[in-house]
Amino acid sequence: NVKDGDQGDVDTRMKVVKHKIIILSGKGGVGKSTFCSLLSLSLAKCQSTNKVGVVDLDICGPSIPKLLAVEGIPITDSPYGWKPLISPHDGIKVMSVGSMLPSDSSAITFRGPRKTGLIKRFLKDTFWGKLDYLLFDTPPGTSDEHMTIVKLLKNVNPDGAVIVTTPQDVALDTIRREINFCKKMGVKIIGIVENMSNFVCPCCEEITSLFPSQGVKKLADSYNVPYLGQLPMDPRVAMCSEQGENAMNKYPDSHVVNSLQNIVQQI
Ligand code: ADP
Repeated sequence: NVKDGDQGDVDTRMKVVKHKIIILSGKGGVGKSTFCSLLSLSLAKCQSTNKVGVVDLDICGPSIPKLLAVEGIPITDSPYGWKPLISPHDGIKVMSVGSMLPSDSSAITFRGPRKTGLIKRFLKDTFWGKLDYLLFDTPPGTSDEHMTIVKLLKNVNPDGAVIVTTPQDVALDTIRREINFCKKMGVKIIGIVENMSNFVCPCCEEITSLFPSQGVKKLADSYNVPYLGQLPMDPRVAMCSEQGENAMNKYPDSHVVNSLQNIVQQI
């Protein structure tokens, strides 16, 4: 439950954030956090004046600190609230439970109300300042974290959700649930991103299809939801993620970066 006073504080902080985008996926491992971090880098890059932040709502499996190279840096307080971590990549601001734990291997055993409380604090007690984009990386599926963020943003006109999936049937089944969740909760679906449907050879850049069907596009069409495009599987992107490097800067001419730029234009 969100108390009225808390909601007012959330509204105040979030009203100076122009665009608020929730990143969803039906299942784990489809590249949602990778996409979220690449999107943040791309948004920061496409207009160098863009100020971008990322909130890692994956309380039990936070990976954003690693992807945005702020791993191991503790969050500190200030008279204006918690200070978000500043990524060395384009100054992206980051909040994540991963930065609040004593060590990388600490178990996170939060129950629902504690997760809700922490998410609320990420919004109302963090000194975000004025931002152009704030992205919310969520855990897979639809649970406490998703309901909480949707409710917390209800007064501040969020842009909506981007759903990330891979093309396998098992992933598509879960996407239907994500779409229905958004419909039920009144969240606009900005579109669906298909990740890792092709493979880019790191030697010759030849693209190989990994799955035969056009399943994601067909599914998006059948629900009348925008299909934003494909991001190929590129081992260099995976390597950048492992090392907290900025794939946008390192491989600016890659298919992934080009595809991302197309997607950003539709967001
Ligand atoms: P999720 O957030 O959906 O659980 P992750 O973003 O953690 O998934 O991605 C799962 C794995 O797939 C990671 O090792 C990541 O580096 C890799 N990955 C994701 N997208 C791509 C891509 N387009 N190319 C190569 N590797 C990718």
